[in-house]
Amino acid sequence: MRAWVKSVQQRGQRIALVPTMGFLHEGHLSLMREGGRRADVVAASIFVNPTQFGPKEDLSTYPRDAEGDLARCGSAGVFGVYMPEPSAVYPPGYQTYVNVEEVSRGLDGEKRPGHFRGVATVVAKLLALFRPEVALFGEKDYQQLQVITRLAADLELGVEIVGMPTIREKDGLAMSSRNSYLSAEERVRALALSRGLFAAQHRAAAGERDVSKLVALIRTELEGVQAREDYVEIVDASRLTSLSTLEEGAPARALIAAFVGKTRLIDNMALQLG
Ligand code: AMP
Repeated sequence: MRAWVKSVQQRGQRIALVPTMGFLHEGHLSLMREGGRRADVVAASIFVNPTQFGPKEDLSTYPRDAEGDLARCGSAGVFGVYMPEPSAVYPPGYQTYVNVEEVSRGLDGEKRPGHFRGVATVVAKLLALFRPEVALFGEKDYQQLQVITRLAADLELGVEIVGMPTIREKDGLAMSSRNSYLSAEERVRALALSRGLFAAQHRAAAGERDVSKLVALIRTELEGVQAREDYVEIVDASRLTSLSTLEEGAPARALIAAFVGKTRLIDNMALQLG
């Protein structure tokens, strides 16, 4: 990979990088296509990163489709795909980890201890390997996007981190590789997440400032389908600190993690007052 990166750079071409865990869908492909608009060559990585999974999480069952993914990458204009074995990324003796402090703390950082340490470590390694001009990430994983933005700024990596909007199914469900875990019945119940977020977004746009009322609206949707809440929070959109009221000109974000059956889903949306 390093030799390839060098040859691209010697030609004076700029690289866009799209890191993924594979089982690609339209959300991933939207990042790749945008990469093609922002740089000369698009590279992607497909790596189910063991260090970002907790001991009781779905590392061993995470869906995979290497062949289909390569075809999808090709159709989205990706030139090269890096698919390392875990032992290539973390060889024996490996001991360096990256910790992004404040923005990693709440939300998924609290519910999935060590998750963002794993994410920040692998993304730092990928950015060091590819030296991209730009790297693209989805707002679907909103806290992850903030963690990586901070990481790139703090380590002065000279890469532009681009956040891209969440791509949804026609009925509102945020696309996710983990949606493949859902049964037909759970797939219907899973709509409660986006329904709750849209409801909160509309209520905020209509002038509701009280965060507890907006959170209650989301909880009602989750309870209506017996989805088990992991968290429902409304936070400052960049610092991710809790809010009690929405203010004009202060971007806020509503974030949910909830279990539908055994599947843990996350989703989030921007809230704008008035
Ligand atoms: P993953 O393979 O789930 O690790 O995701 C790889 C990248 O794709 C991350 O930057 C995600 O935020 C992004 N992504 C995943 N789902 C979506 C989606 N529905 N819309 C936009 N981006 C997404």
